[in-house]
Amino acid sequence: MRKILVTGGAGFIGSAVVRYILEQTRDSVVVVDKLTYAGNLSSLAPVASLPGFAFEQADIGNGPEMARILDTYQPDIVMHLAAESHVDRSIDGPAAFIDTNIVGTYTLLEAARHYWQTLEPVKKQAFRFHHISTDEVYGDLHDSNGFFTEQTPYAPSSPYSASKAASDHLVRAWSRTYGLPVVVTNCSNNYGPYHFPEKLIPLTILNGLAGKPLPVYGDGQQIRDWLYVDDHARALYLVATTGKTGETWNIGGHNERTNLDVVETVCTLLEELVPEKPAGVCHYRDLITFVADRPGHDVRYAIDAGKIARELGWLPQETFDSGMRKTVTWYLSNKAWWQQVQDGSYQGQRLGLAGKE
Ligand code: NAD
Repeated sequence: MRKILVTGGAGFIGSAVVRYILEQTRDSVVVVDKLTYAGNLSSLAPVASLPGFAFEQADIGNGPEMARILDTYQPDIVMHLAAESHVDRSIDGPAAFIDTNIVGTYTLLEAARHYWQTLEPVKKQAFRFHHISTDEVYGDLHDSNGFFTEQTPYAPSSPYSASKAASDHLVRAWSRTYGLPVVVTNCSNNYGPYHFPEKLIPLTILNGLAGKPLPVYGDGQQIRDWLYVDDHARALYLVATTGKTGETWNIGGHNERTNLDVVETVCTLLEELVPEKPAGVCHYRDLITFVADRPGHDVRYAIDAGKIARELGWLPQETFDSGMRKTVTWYLSNKAWWQQVQDGSYQGQRLGLAGKE
């Protein structure tokens, strides 16, 4: 039984990782999360009362706090997901991305290095620092048949992807220079339950249900490779617990779709699952509205996930169709979750568990 410290565990992917570990393995978890606008304790509600769960509200940029938490919980693995993650926000206000993704990762790395150096030999040997990153560090794929591999040079386009690229480099440098046992993963776009409604798929579902415009950037022909979040969570646990240190794995869903395809898929599912439409709406797809393109918008991302399949035996279980159906169905069945996000009340929530905050 391991103890795994998960930063950003109240976010979209982090909460899926925490739910996966506590529901599918014998390991225990301590979540470290600042609870920014993207952190939502309701996403942890299904597992928050389990004995293996602990929660610390803290900023990864606070070195003494990170040292205290590492010292208190003595984790075997750190899975680092805490980040500012929304590209549009990084364009409007890059400072928080530099603070959390670069300086915060540096601060956490230093705390982890000092903690790791104090461990007794067997635990020190087994320790892992897992940095969870994005395929956006590779920039645009100009070759329409090509794929990002672990050898693709970094060429980030947005303040978000540049900050994640910087944090990847820091993590590798801490491995090479100080010997910290690290593993890094770079994953394609995730989708699924508990996704914050500012992102394309949940925004499209909720705007569709409300009869509001469904915004699509530019001509909607930007291609992304989509992965169901629970498939990502399973891959991350596999890498964190069995991946060889010093290595990187790309993770992807083999689901390349244009943004317009994605929005149309949501519309088709809504037609089937919610035939009673909002007033004045004949077809959900009539709500599609093309808006000015995002500055610096990358045209295509696609992942070669062959290494993780060959070495660790991971393959996605969901197809795009099955994952999208699960996702739309989840939003239809979990109104309370997204209504609390929309009215802002999720930010006042507490886990309500003594000693867990
Ligand atoms: P998210 O925005 O949903 O969640 C981020 C979490 O980090 C939130 O709970 C937030 O409160 C927390 N956080 C932010 N700043 C913090 C700080 N300074 N200290 C402590 N906690 C802080 O993000 P996500 O979509 O779940 O992404 C998680 C990670 O996975 C990120 O590192 C992201 O770069 C990476 N990633 C995301 C995707 C994707 O499609 N969403 C794809 C590949 C990689």
